[in-house]
Amino acid sequence: CGIVGYVGPQSALDVVTAGLKRLEYRGYDSAGVAVQADGQLATAKKAGKLVNLEKELADRPLPAGTTGIGHTRWATHGGPTDANAHPHIDNAGRVAVVHNGIIENFAALREELTERGHELGSETDTEVVAHLLAEEFSGCADLAEAMRLVCRRLEGAFTLVAVHADEPDVVVGARRNSPLVVGVGEGEAFLASDVAAFIAHTREAVELGQDQVVELRRDRVTVTDFDGGTADVRAYHVDWDA
Ligand code: GLU
Repeated sequence: CGIVGYVGPQSALDVVTAGLKRLEYRGYDSAGVAVQADGQLATAKKAGKLVNLEKELADRPLPAGTTGIGHTRWATHGGPTDANAHPHIDNAGRVAVVHNGIIENFAALREELTERGHELGSETDTEVVAHLLAEEFSGCADLAEAMRLVCRRLEGAFTLVAVHADEPDVVVGARRNSPLVVGVGEGEAFLASDVAAFIAHTREAVELGQDQVVELRRDRVTVTDFDGGTADVRAYHVDWDA
């Protein structure tokens, strides 16, 4: 129900968890985060309120990293359990993805992945995306390109945000029939389902259009359509008080 992504010099965990708090008003049943640090991904996720996730992070701290994503879930496929909470990861634990919306053709994709030897550990429609991203990344070593290739195969409504262990300082997002906004700071960038998540850091926003993919780096935000072509985006200044 809420999504936050961050790349920059700050602690990704601090920025992401603060952003998730700003999105709590939207309602949710579980929450989770993933941080990219030293060529590895670390995740924490818990059913229930953000306070449960905070307790988990206090008991089992994640390594410090400056690239990260977070999610609050409103379950549509699979009950509100720790295993179904996002982020979802591939079997090698190299890619983590969060998702708002519904992947309508997940059952067919799941069957296809299982036939190719993937083991899926949740009941969500989302998990297939992590496995598909891992497969596509192994062919192109470019997370934004992997996201474009995967999105072309998805049906339904989605905001997706992903990080890969082998791409430091990169967060990739995509959207179809579901909101996603970029926040552009100085030497840092944010992604969220709602500007409220990053308004404390920057008021320069870019709204993604339908069927677009964005690659966030500290000093650069690149938006394309699902085919890799140049995309029209709307940049604006958020002038309301948060
Ligand atoms: N369909 C996904 C799930 O049930 C995402 C739900 C959401 O939008 O939070 O896990």
